Amino acid sequence: MWYNFERMTKNYRLVYEIVREQTRGAHLAPADVFTLAKKKRQGIGFTTVYRALARLRELGLVSEISVPGAESAYYETAGPAHAHFRCEECGAIEDIDYALDPNVVKEIARKHAIAVRDVSLSLRGKCRRCTDRAASPAK
Ligand SMILES: [Zn+2]
Ligand SMILES: [Zn+2]
Repeated sequence: MWYNFERMTKNYRLVYEIVREQTRGAHLAPADVFTLAKKKRQGIGFTTVYRALARLRELGLVSEISVPGAESAYYETAGPAHAHFRCEECGAIEDIDYALDPNVVKEIARKHAIAVRDVSLSLRGKCRRCTDRAASPAK
């Protein structure tokens, strides 16, 4: 039992380190985390990685982002609230430095008599790279 707990903790730490190591603005799908985790610990299983992500989210260490149109949820280090943009052409996900005013959220909650647990804002369209590519004629 103790051994299992110890091993589990190590895996959680490994998964957390992987998410934390990413440059700001990176968003990893569970499959990406798994690929990176295997490089560091060959025997690690996908389920372990997936569970670790869920647990780290519960602990508030990583954030889970679901963006409409994306194939899976994405993970990033927990930080200040921001919106996400997804490019419909290349699938890139970018951070958008914008968050709804907490007072606005409070007012919405009051008006509709609802308890808001989480707010996620997402935008979609075409990223700058795809826009530039479309504008410059292929050579
Ligand atoms: Zn794009
Ligand atoms: Zn983000």
